[in-house]
Amino acid sequence: MSLDVRGKTLLVVGLARSGCAAGSLLRRHGARVFGIDDASAQQVDARWQAHGLAERAATAFDSVITGGDWAAVPLAELDGVALSPGVPRSHPQVAALARRVPVDGEIEWGARACGASVVAVTGTNGKSTTTELVAHLLRSAGLAAEALGNVGRPFCDRADVLPDEAVAVLELSSFQLESIDEFRPAVGVVLNLAPDHLDRYPDLAGYYAAKQKLASAVPRGGVFVTWTDCPEARSWETAGTRTLFGAAEAGADVYLHEGVLWVGGQAKRRAVLPVAQLALQSPPNLLNAAAAVAATLPLTDDLSALAAGLRSFGGLPHRHQPVGQIGDVRFIDDSKATNVDAVCAGLRGYRGEVVLIAGGSGKGEQYAPLREVMDAVHAVVVIGQEGPTIAAALAGTVPIHAADTLSAAVTRAYELAQPDRTVLLSPACASFDMFRDYRHRGEVFASAAQALGATREGTS
Ligand code: ADP
Repeated sequence: MSLDVRGKTLLVVGLARSGCAAGSLLRRHGARVFGIDDASAQQVDARWQAHGLAERAATAFDSVITGGDWAAVPLAELDGVALSPGVPRSHPQVAALARRVPVDGEIEWGARACGASVVAVTGTNGKSTTTELVAHLLRSAGLAAEALGNVGRPFCDRADVLPDEAVAVLELSSFQLESIDEFRPAVGVVLNLAPDHLDRYPDLAGYYAAKQKLASAVPRGGVFVTWTDCPEARSWETAGTRTLFGAAEAGADVYLHEGVLWVGGQAKRRAVLPVAQLALQSPPNLLNAAAAVAATLPLTDDLSALAAGLRSFGGLPHRHQPVGQIGDVRFIDDSKATNVDAVCAGLRGYRGEVVLIAGGSGKGEQYAPLREVMDAVHAVVVIGQEGPTIAAALAGTVPIHAADTLSAAVTRAYELAQPDRTVLLSPACASFDMFRDYRHRGEVFASAAQALGATREGTS
């Protein structure tokens, strides 16, 4: 594939981080680029300022159209569209455009410009952690690897400057996968699948169909990595070779068994390292480690370098991150757990010692599956818009309390957690009812725990 856009007129839809990166890439390669957003000029400007995009945006477009003024788009001149992941293909004007010109996502445009190998990671939970871990493991093995995509820096920012021998490790959301076409990653990983984003998709099948595009994208000669416990993704057709991580008895090629991480399946197994030496120890992260190793094996067989990488990878903030301790009560920030599956996975491994803080804005999910992990929980403190719904779904399991603010919830949870339990913020919800985003929510949680600690020290 190559990016041949010289003299073409292209429209970028959605002017946030990915849109600006796409516009910039296309313009660098000689296209005339229009950008459009439904938000007002002031809103777009404020967004650019807030995300440090103003300088980049100034050179990314020949012309910027705001306020959804689609009449200003030179439709007759358009050769193609670069769609930002935040804008659904069902957007009326985008759907109309798709009948006239190709509508491709930012990832697709990046892939056309990229000579480096690509490892693409998707799934409902664990994408960011696994993407960063794959990049870290590849770097440990001496390869030039960069984590890009949903994890932070857009692919289009780096796609055309990465050397051919480098590896782009992309975190891809279902939104990004909706608009790939000829994108062909050397390795595609589907970590797991569970209900999520039902506010954007009409049903679960729509969400899974977007994820399935990754299986179809892996070419002959490539590798498609899935989890033994995910029958849905295992059933998907792919031209690539399949590699499984997870349970040895279910035929995994990469698995944890008797305290050791193995590769090569049961027949030709080779030890990578003792599990106790991994820096990340929570049950979901052990699975992510197995997935990451499976994703790197097509590119390196230096197992001792992989072991060194697994020992030194400390994980990402707001994903099961210890943020404080008062006496023997520990505070753990899992603010990134924005769906029920992430909360359930994070609670595995506990036995009744957790005081859970949950709630926020809803994504159309059912909370009843949380009932199955209440063995891990001593009490729940609910917050936010979904608080009452979660409380109703958990009725009759453990004591449920409600708080008006996250700080009040932290104080209540601390009282309930005395003398030696764990206060876990794992909301099962988005954060937008009370916070800017999940990071902001995690920061407020950590500050509240620290402030509480300072008060207790002052009074003891
Ligand atoms: P994503 O990028 O897919 O949102 P993250 O790595 O940011 O994934 O983690 C999001 C949430 O999912 C965190 O709460 C984390 O503890 C949880 N999590 C991480 N890995 C897994 C997994 N393999 N299965 C289920 N939950 C997971």
